[in-house]
Amino acid sequence: MLQDADRTRILAISPHLDDAVLSVGASLAQAARDGGKVTVFTVFAGSAAPPYSPAAERFHARWGLSPTEDAPLRRRNEDIAALDHLGADHRHGRFPDAIYRKSPDGQWLLHHDGGSAVRQQSPVNNHDLASAIRHDIESVIAECEPTLLLTCVAIGNHPDHMVTRDATLLTAGGRGIPLRLWQDLPYAVYSSNMAELPSGLQLGSPDLSFVQEEARARKFQAMKHYATQLSVLDGPNKNLFARLEEHARSASPDGGYNETTWPVIRHADQ
Ligand SMILES: [Zn+2]
Repeated sequence: MLQDADRTRILAISPHLDDAVLSVGASLAQAARDGGKVTVFTVFAGSAAPPYSPAAERFHARWGLSPTEDAPLRRRNEDIAALDHLGADHRHGRFPDAIYRKSPDGQWLLHHDGGSAVRQQSPVNNHDLASAIRHDIESVIAECEPTLLLTCVAIGNHPDHMVTRDATLLTAGGRGIPLRLWQDLPYAVYSSNMAELPSGLQLGSPDLSFVQEEARARKFQAMKHYATQLSVLDGPNKNLFARLEEHARSASPDGGYNETTWPVIRHADQ
């Protein structure tokens, strides 16, 4: 994925505070170690004013926080520590996570289904949000001048992942900046569901980016900084770290640790 690493400037557009590290943290660590400049811009990193949705309050409880605590502030600090461990810079977007948002009809966007998952409750009017996200992505691109853009492929169909992916694709569209989509982890361990790409775009062949053991280890160490999220993702019997290892190594003939990304093919290119 990362040739000429000393001239590489990677900008990873992450939906939430942890997605980039979980999905491509080893590749980012290796790029930084090889002399590249790595920045992770997390779109849904903003704080929200209470009152919070029942879903948000239940997540706060599972994360070990009080119902009305400024969880995004806590999570931003986790992210700074995690990215620092990878040798990457951080930028934190202003948008609140879906658990804090309402749909135009005034209902909470997500509700808690009693288990660990959230389900979309009402239609998402993404137009204004997508425009605002594109505006902010353009600003970060202008600042970082990336030679490679990364974002998620949106496996699992989370609305925040889908809008981040599509905003990044549309922003990158006319700029000629190479772009790759990462396999969303840990969600891809359990699911292959993903929404179609915007019209005129399709995935190219998957690329398994193999990393050195040191980069794999650095990723796993960085993940441990996301303590609030690990309380859910690595809960009882989940064995998150072992599952990520097994998932990566089972995709590779010789069992090396790797992270999967896809290029995006534009139909007009063909
Ligand atoms: Zn996410």
